Amino acid sequence: MLKSVLLRKALIIFVITTAIALAVLITSYTLLSKDKHITQKINELMPVANAAALLTTEKIANSLDYETYAYLCAEMADSVNSYIVFVETDYAFQYLSEPVNDPEFMRGLIRFIAENNEFFTGERYYSKHLEINNEIYVCAASHVYNESGTILGNIFIITERAKILSSISLSNYTIILSALIALPFAAVLTIAGATHALKPTKHLVLVAKEVSEGNYDAKANEKIKGEFGTIARAINTMTDRVSNMMRELRLEKRQLNQIIAGLSDGIVAINTQGKIMHYNPALMNMFGAVGVSTKEELVPHPEIWELFDAVLDTDEVRMTTYHTEDGRAIWITVSTIYDDENNCAGAVGLFKDATEMERLENMRREYIANISHEFRTPLTALRGLLEPLADDMIPDEETKHRYYNVMIEEVTRLSRLISDMLTISKLQSNALAFEIEPVNVSEKLKQLEVSLSTTAAKKNIEVEFDVQDNLIAMTDHDRLSQVLIILTDNAVKYSKSGGKVTVSAKYVKDFSHLITQPNVAVSNPSYNANKCKNKIIISVSDKGVGIPAMDLPRIFERFYTVSKSRTKGSTGLGLSIAQQILDAMDETLIVKSVEDKGSTFMITLTPFDPERDKKYLN
Ligand code: ADP
Repeated sequence: MLKSVLLRKALIIFVITTAIALAVLITSYTLLSKDKHITQKINELMPVANAAALLTTEKIANSLDYETYAYLCAEMADSVNSYIVFVETDYAFQYLSEPVNDPEFMRGLIRFIAENNEFFTGERYYSKHLEINNEIYVCAASHVYNESGTILGNIFIITERAKILSSISLSNYTIILSALIALPFAAVLTIAGATHALKPTKHLVLVAKEVSEGNYDAKANEKIKGEFGTIARAINTMTDRVSNMMRELRLEKRQLNQIIAGLSDGIVAINTQGKIMHYNPALMNMFGAVGVSTKEELVPHPEIWELFDAVLDTDEVRMTTYHTEDGRAIWITVSTIYDDENNCAGAVGLFKDATEMERLENMRREYIANISHEFRTPLTALRGLLEPLADDMIPDEETKHRYYNVMIEEVTRLSRLISDMLTISKLQSNALAFEIEPVNVSEKLKQLEVSLSTTAAKKNIEVEFDVQDNLIAMTDHDRLSQVLIILTDNAVKYSKSGGKVTVSAKYVKDFSHLITQPNVAVSNPSYNANKCKNKIIISVSDKGVGIPAMDLPRIFERFYTVSKSRTKGSTGLGLSIAQQILDAMDETLIVKSVEDKGSTFMITLTPFDPERDKKYLN
């Protein structure tokens, strides 16, 4: 019960107050009652003195014998615990009571009476301060008359003042004792009363404790009367305010965390001691971190953390490009974080994976270099032919004619280059519309057979078509033609005279075995075994020069040509265009080629499904 500090304090205050009250009581009682006691004693002594005076008169008249008289006087003196002395007017005295035998005392008494003559004149009957031999006494006096009424002397009843006052001490002891007996009861009552009075504090303490532990829903009882009610209301108002503030802070923090977590760039903040304060999943992914307890577990590259140290030391923003071992380029910007007083509170680093950007930038640079190169070749050739013609340095018509033919060839190559580049650019910017619809592949290949046979015949190349009937694919009519022309043109272009080009088309249930063979390249990297099912496959085979194994993986790149010498007039853009067209339709181009043996280019097409594509059925 006395766990309550308030209660303990109330009890201590009670004990101290009681002790002070008791001290004040005893002191004032002692002071005030001293005089009262002495007066009371004199009042008690007075009748005894009167009675003794009467007895003395009797004795002087010889009505009483001395023994009786002495006995009675002694008894009377005893009854009031005093001495009794009869002093005659001539200061002679009779011995009546025991201590009076002391001559010193008697001399002192006589001196006192002589000095205070009023006792015999009837002006004084008592003294509260009778000093004899350094002892203080109190006395009451009464005249002794003879029969004719003359004053013969005085009876003095004398008591030691100390004896009277000793009764006060007794009273004090009694008071203290009573107080000591009453104190425990009073203390119990005080505790009970205080406990009852402090009951609301228990409730308020509980509420305050709950609030301090973060439970802002805890409410103090506002109906409590008096000051505690005011405290309860103040606690509730305070709790509401803190609760609102905390809610806003939590909301802000959650939003900030969501923003940071949602960033595609990595972010990490450390304090001045180098301890991580925040980081986001993007950064974890960037460096493959799983559990993070130290900064080295998050980013296991000390060089990067040295950059943070430098920022903390110099207060300057630092930027760098960090190349990881696996070939990624990461742009890092580290800057200082400041606190409210503008002091450095840590550093924050922003990590951007610039691998793709750098790759694109390199590609762009390479592309421009390639274009310049591709343009320069025909232009240089043209200039080389035009200059002698312009200077009229070619006299014979036959040579001139040959020059003109070469020039026409170069200009055609230039215009093809430009048209191929335009197609690629349109494909990359999605500007080329695809109209996917059911296309009768069998019919289409029949039409192709006519034109291909004509061009192949010029090079003395045999053409064979092996096409299943009624193959209907969901594809874009024109784009498919474009791809087929690229493939068949190449087949003829890279076949030797007397060679053979075979075009076939059939429905294949599963062709996953095709993409796992050696000397095979697949244009669409998303093509795995699962995707190699239920397709129409058109293949264009030749027995021409083939493609060396080392060139196969790069065959779909823009401007990539196997060897300049064997590809006169080629741009290296055809297969790139075919790849991008097929990619856009989620199809793929598969190449199987062996150098000097020939190549087979296969394209996949999605067969028409009457169930899935019923909207195309009229
Ligand atoms: P182009 O044929 O205009 O040079 P392509 O992109 O169509 O450009 O072809 C790129 C390269 O692939 C060619 O330079 C050639 O070396 C090689 N190539 C393409 N088709 C064949 C094929 N059927 N036989 C051998 N090599 C080929």
